[in-house]
Amino acid sequence: MSPPVNLIGKSAAELRAFLELLGEPAYRGAQIYRALYAERRREFPSMTNLPAALRERLGREAAIMLPRVVRRHRSSDGTVRYVLALEPASPEGSGERGSHPVPAQIETVFMPEENRQTLCLSTQAGCAVDCRFCLTATLGLARNLTAGEIVGQALVALEDNRASLRPRTNIVLMGQGEPLLNYDAVMAALRILLDPHGMAISPRHTTLSTSGIIPAIERLALERVRPKLAVSLNASSNAQRDQIMPINRKYPLEKLMDVCRKYPLRTWERLTFEYVLLGGFNDSPEDARRVARLLSGLRAKVNLIPWNPGELPYQRPDAGWIEEFRAILAAKGISVFVRQSRGQDVLAACGQLALTESAAAAVPHA
Ligand code: SF4
Repeated sequence: MSPPVNLIGKSAAELRAFLELLGEPAYRGAQIYRALYAERRREFPSMTNLPAALRERLGREAAIMLPRVVRRHRSSDGTVRYVLALEPASPEGSGERGSHPVPAQIETVFMPEENRQTLCLSTQAGCAVDCRFCLTATLGLARNLTAGEIVGQALVALEDNRASLRPRTNIVLMGQGEPLLNYDAVMAALRILLDPHGMAISPRHTTLSTSGIIPAIERLALERVRPKLAVSLNASSNAQRDQIMPINRKYPLEKLMDVCRKYPLRTWERLTFEYVLLGGFNDSPEDARRVARLLSGLRAKVNLIPWNPGELPYQRPDAGWIEEFRAILAAKGISVFVRQSRGQDVLAACGQLALTESAAAAVPHA
């Protein structure tokens, strides 16, 4: 007997096709789509708009497989960092053809604020991009996540906090992995997350952060449904960026800024540039002036992220230098914010939690 087909991550069209394969009317697929993503139902018996016989059949031939919570780390500011286990899935169940995803652990973060929650999702288990300030890089890439595993993180985090949910949900693809190196699965997940009949999260409240994979940014620019784009800049010159982001040798700053200038922004949209301030490395007034020149003429905002000292050999920038850096950009007319990391007491940098967990479990990653 073939294993049950995982429905999480399937689009409305794929669910309609699956139901037709079972000899059911296609509109049942649309009903299941709504139940899975809009109503966030996790069991077939609760889908009471389906006939009882179909619910029973789905219970035998299909599955609602979500990432499993291995551990929750709660911060005093309300942030919850999840370590999630991804089960191996059949190619059919994963929504990917010809691939056999292996088990992996990832992290997902839930950050409550006054009138909204922000979910930080992973798109790969580990990462191959090798940014020198990022602990995820030290894990290497275990594998790409499937669309179902990306959507599943949002479903798990929302369900786990169901009692205290705020009216609005923001999504940031800033967890483990480079989203644009897992393009097809990320876009399939986003089509469900941003679909008004699916999880109904607004594109205005969804941000994809990239280290600057130029061909994929060009591809993203052509998508009908797309999130906002954030570029992880972190340096003011090629020489500097080469040192901390080796990807810069393949996609250097001038080409990256060129593709950013051509990126078709919607009327309400700005590009975001993330800039991790590494004390004594990229936080000088000269750096700020170079960044201002790089961004001149762009509809952009800059998030300055003061480095949190941890296991990597960088220092927290001096408070006075952070302010001077901010003021230089602001004086050039650039919107600039200093972002405080959430959940600092449960490890703040992306990938830190997974590294700790894997070290504790002595699981090799490479
Ligand atoms: S910062 Fe992002 S792209 Fe760079 S290594 Fe870490 S996870 Fe990968």
